[in-house]
Amino acid sequence: METNKHQPSRLDPSFKNEVLKEHDAETLKICFQCGTCTSSCPTARFSDLYRPRTILRMAQSGLRKKVLSSPTLWLCTACSTCTDRCPQGVEVANVLRVLRNLAVKSGEVPLIYRELTSSINETGYAYKIPEIRHKKREETGLPPLPKPKAVDIAKLIELAHGSRLLKK
Ligand code: SF4
Ligand code: SF4
Repeated sequence: METNKHQPSRLDPSFKNEVLKEHDAETLKICFQCGTCTSSCPTARFSDLYRPRTILRMAQSGLRKKVLSSPTLWLCTACSTCTDRCPQGVEVANVLRVLRNLAVKSGEVPLIYRELTSSINETGYAYKIPEIRHKKREETGLPPLPKPKAVDIAKLIELAHGSRLLKK
């Protein structure tokens, strides 16, 4: 069942253990919610919604659906400032990466990221470069953009189980 702000979120006590058994996510259990990660996070500085401390708390509490379907989970830039500053030694950036991997497995990836992956899969570029851009480059004497090996890229995406990220 979909959750929204008017519905109570369901607790799933097994979720925390599922996260903890993933490599690099074991330290989730020692987070004592001091908030240093959020106050150090460069993304949180520019967002009213993104709070790594809150995501970790929701994961500890078993809010599976709320965590895995949260679009803010994808705002982490993996800079690891939170990990460097955490007084408890929580591998915050790794825990967040594990949560994103679980979101991919459960098919909860926001459309924009599926579009980006699909574009990389098809063209080698995250952004589908319009033909007019290529013509402009030619007109202004710029060299053509390198042509990525689409077959190799598609293979890499397949090997990384990235097919779950492609647009249906
Ligand atoms: S800094 Fe570490 S202990 Fe504090 S809230 Fe963040 S993860 Fe938890
Ligand atoms: S790794 Fe993610 S959560 Fe941690 S400080 Fe960087 S952007 Fe923020």
